[in-house]
Amino acid sequence: MEDPAPVRAPLRVAVIGAGPAGFYAAEALLKGREDVAVDLFDRLPTPYGLVRFGVAPDHQKLKSVTRLYERTLGDPRLRYLGNVEFGRHLTTADLARHYHAAVYAVGSPGDRRLGIPGEDLPGSLSATEFVAWYNGHPDYRDLEVPLDARTAVVIGVGNVAIDVTRVLAKSVDELRSTDAADHALAALARSTVEEIVIVGRRGPAEARFTTKELRELGELLNADVYVDERELVVPAASRRAIEGDVNAQKNLEVLEAFAQQAPRGKPRRVRLRFLLSPLELQGEGRVERVVLGRNRLVEREDSGLAAEPTGETETLEAQLVFRSVGYRGAPLPGVPFDERACVIPNAAGRVLEAGAPVPGAYVAGWIKRGPSGVIGTNKADAMETVAALLEDAQAGRLPQPSEPGAEAVLATLAAAGADPFTSAEWGRLDAAEIAAGAGQGRPRVKVVDRAEMLARGRAKPAREEEVTESPS
Ligand code: NAP
Repeated sequence: MEDPAPVRAPLRVAVIGAGPAGFYAAEALLKGREDVAVDLFDRLPTPYGLVRFGVAPDHQKLKSVTRLYERTLGDPRLRYLGNVEFGRHLTTADLARHYHAAVYAVGSPGDRRLGIPGEDLPGSLSATEFVAWYNGHPDYRDLEVPLDARTAVVIGVGNVAIDVTRVLAKSVDELRSTDAADHALAALARSTVEEIVIVGRRGPAEARFTTKELRELGELLNADVYVDERELVVPAASRRAIEGDVNAQKNLEVLEAFAQQAPRGKPRRVRLRFLLSPLELQGEGRVERVVLGRNRLVEREDSGLAAEPTGETETLEAQLVFRSVGYRGAPLPGVPFDERACVIPNAAGRVLEAGAPVPGAYVAGWIKRGPSGVIGTNKADAMETVAALLEDAQAGRLPQPSEPGAEAVLATLAAAGADPFTSAEWGRLDAAEIAAGAGQGRPRVKVVDRAEMLARGRAKPAREEEVTESPS
């Protein structure tokens, strides 16, 4: 009998979620250690998360970050397993059996609500679902977006609000050269929206959007932008609060320039309003009006400058409302969750339960820190998490999996009824989308149906088919 050879098993890590945070975590693992095997999972067949389904279609440059992620996908030490849902096909017990560690990088899939009467009337949507719809997310392709409205109100003054406004304000011809989903282009072509009102509950100095995004509103070919100078009055407390905040100061300059700008008679109007909170959405069978309450700013010891109602109200005729008040994290089965902050509790990426680290459990991205920052913010965030993981591996703090083989994972997935989509299959779907786009002068034409995604990824390349099908 042969002596058993000493096996130096690689460090096996599962990364749950193939958005930016998942990719940066995978990249840091591959760079941080030679003998590592990473399985990167996603609920959807396609990788890239919010880069594919969140970044606006007219911001293609931001999407070019996927070239870096492609390099990670191409590393032989990484295996992509799309179309696998954590909680359904894979549990924490499975992860413990097959991996030394897991990094949860699932983002914040939900949205925050306003909690006001009429919020569920037809015509009231969350910006996050509208974004997913125009970006071709398979779960939102059938969303009803009643674009037969004259006025749309967008609640919230963050970058998502600006994205939604731009998409509503642009002519469909401006969007035809993008990778916006075909169903969205068809619906937007019939849009009767003339005015988009963006509403902030605090003042212009407290707005969350970034100046670059704000400026783009002033460059719209199809819409004039309006700001009422009276709403741009910045109290001393606000001025003090934004000292040293270059973004907030530049925002004010841009807003002041907008207020001075004479309208050019463009077909649509974008109006920025401040110090107003939605109190109620009213209408018979669909949104017809938005009741807004005027606020003033008050200084609070714990939370800085807060909006306080003055008691004054105004009513806006509007047929479409998007609440754009932030994304929201959701709990994962078997993983600790902070219900208040809607994140997985952690210390520098180590998942905590009752204040103590859960061995082998890590978290990165929005589900670690909340839905803030830009794509690149996730890089440093994931690096911090992976540094903790590698440190724990080095110190012998990671639990030993009982079935560490790469094949054993596939058996677990098959037993759970999963049908994993591989990186080669994604590569074929990606190429097919890009080829379809080339004929139309677009970066790609997205496949939005899950079954079709799988079929395209698994279709034999045309040449191969010709060879097999040609008579001998
Ligand atoms: P966000 O930046 O957090 O903005 C949320 C907005 O909603 C804030 O104006 C907030 O006001 C307001 N809000 C919250 N609760 C409210 C309520 N009950 N009533 C009225 N207003 C309320 O969130 P986001 O726009 O969803 O963006 C998420 C992250 O993605 C951000 O970091 C953003 O920069 C990033 N992102 C970046 C880009 C880009 O780089 N182009 C594009 C899209 C998103 P308060 O400040 O008063 O709370």
